[in-house]
Amino acid sequence: MPELLDGVPGRALAVYAHPDDPDVSCGGSLARWARGGAEVHVVLCTNGDKGTADPDADPADLARARADEATAAAAVLGVAAQHQLGYPDGELVDDAALRGVLVGWIRRLRPQWVLGPDPTAVFFGEDYFNHRDHRVIGFALLDALSPAAALPHYFPDAGPAHQVETVLLSGTLEPNVWVDISETIEDKAAAVACHHSQFAEDGEWARRAVRERAAQDGRRAGVAYAEGFRRLRLRG
Ligand SMILES: [Zn+2]
Repeated sequence: MPELLDGVPGRALAVYAHPDDPDVSCGGSLARWARGGAEVHVVLCTNGDKGTADPDADPADLARARADEATAAAAVLGVAAQHQLGYPDGELVDDAALRGVLVGWIRRLRPQWVLGPDPTAVFFGEDYFNHRDHRVIGFALLDALSPAAALPHYFPDAGPAHQVETVLLSGTLEPNVWVDISETIEDKAAAVACHHSQFAEDGEWARRAVRERAAQDGRRAGVAYAEGFRRLRLRG
């Protein structure tokens, strides 16, 4: 039987690479928990400045537009605060500096649940492989969560240690838990549609794609619309 993840965390933190990643990956779940009273935080690592096929686009202009799109999307989902770190696209490096930054956010916000991309998901069918930034953030986040954030002698200047209880990895090839997003599917679709720079059409195609994808996951979960995750329960 597919397991549905019920419950609402006191505080959730979603850490993703690009400005539209959290909305696409877990927007329905974030909206569901925000509606349920959770304090939802989002960390966006890059500014999305290379996310276009237009050779004439100005990267700085694109980054500004994408920051505004992400801000609008967070408001749709009921996110309490969104933190935009501003790294350029494609230049994230999984090193001690990046892990230290992520540890700092984990220890400052002290969430019970953390979401991020599953870095072990590399190949999707025959026509897509996972973006390097997603893979880098996925592994850096896992290493930041455990052991680093949880043990005081890692990054001792980044605040008091904090043990996260539950990690939910999206974009996974091995989901083991689903969140029923039937009541927030339209919030998710609207949040994704805020990212106007990412599609040539008016957003209706994007909304439809969101619904179709969530309906696929819903069929696996036995509900109308769902988001699937690989769940890890960390022990201190
Ligand atoms: Zn992305």
